[in-house]
Amino acid sequence: GSTIGILGGGQLGRMMAVAAAQLGYRCIGYSPEGDNVAAAVCEDFFTNEWDDKEALAAFAARCDVVTWEFENVPVETARAFPADQIFPDPRALETAQDRLSEKRFVEDLGGRPAAYAKVDSRTDLEAAADRLGAPGILKTRRDGYDGKGQWRIMSGRDAAGLKMPDAAAIYEGFVEFRAEFSVILVRGQNGEVRFWDSARNTHEGGVLAASLLPAGKVVDAQVEEARKLAGKVAQALNYVGVLTLEFFATHEGPIFNEMAPRVHNSGHWTIEGAATSQFENHIRAVAGLPLGDTRTIAEAVEMRNILGTEIEGAHAFLADADTHLHDYGKSEVREGRKMGHLTRLTRS
Ligand code: ATP
Ligand code: MG
Ligand code: MG
Repeated sequence: GSTIGILGGGQLGRMMAVAAAQLGYRCIGYSPEGDNVAAAVCEDFFTNEWDDKEALAAFAARCDVVTWEFENVPVETARAFPADQIFPDPRALETAQDRLSEKRFVEDLGGRPAAYAKVDSRTDLEAAADRLGAPGILKTRRDGYDGKGQWRIMSGRDAAGLKMPDAAAIYEGFVEFRAEFSVILVRGQNGEVRFWDSARNTHEGGVLAASLLPAGKVVDAQVEEARKLAGKVAQALNYVGVLTLEFFATHEGPIFNEMAPRVHNSGHWTIEGAATSQFENHIRAVAGLPLGDTRTIAEAVEMRNILGTEIEGAHAFLADADTHLHDYGKSEVREGRKMGHLTRLTRS
């Protein structure tokens, strides 16, 4: 087919559409009214609600294949498309949208998440903090991103005094990690799987700050085990496209944090730093094309997010000839909001 539909309108969709255009595809986006920065690079963009059946049917009729860039697309919306039109399988969305089902799913495949407990009330939270210990983190099961919907619990007293979220949650024991990394893979329609190198990720205030390669010994030693798990997850979901699993590297090996059934911020370095980017390979996979080489093509790579007002004057970073700037073109600057990123390569 020659038209790709993208559910969601953020920077991930924008970079996906740029990669698709290079391969000769047209993209049509779909996301309710908002700062849909993907629209600027799509041929057309639907700003209807997720449950607008008529609009979804009109969108489907114009697309040969449909995918998503946003992990909170309602599962019913994704299921409105025939199974041979939408990739990955919407079951991946369903599994990953709920932290509890996601952890159980990964545990069934042999993965190890942090100790956790289901929390539906303050009594549950106090019991969980008691049983699993503090510090820990209370997380809403759904809709969290960039550390939103999370509360650090430093003691039993914190658990007693917290203003409880108005949503189902889980409590997780705090992991004393040595480093964080993610496994990003692409799986084709024929089941072929390719992995990019795992970068070391650093976070500030629950938001990804940087992804660095080489990742260093601590991460490198745990990538193989983490990849095995990610490969099993992809196979179990009959996954097609790019899939990301986040891990904590600990003295006891890789601890699973969460998965994202999509291209991922920690893979932005692949645009300049890998033979084929995560965006291009996602498009290749959903379009049924052969997958591209995922090899790293620089000696070192450093990706840094640009948050909030840091985007003002970001062109100055280009004074360094090895630095590449990506400005997502967001019209509203908010504190901590992902506005763009920089990738700096060290070439051999
Ligand atoms: P994303 O934007 O990656 O989807 P999110 O809001 O889903 O973020 P998490 O990945 O759950 O959030 O947590 C964000 C960061 O907070 C993690 O990358 C890690 O640095 C820290 N963190 C989360 N859970 C734990 C934990 N159990 N122990 C230690 N640190 C944690
Ligand atoms: Mg998340
Ligand atoms: Mg995360």
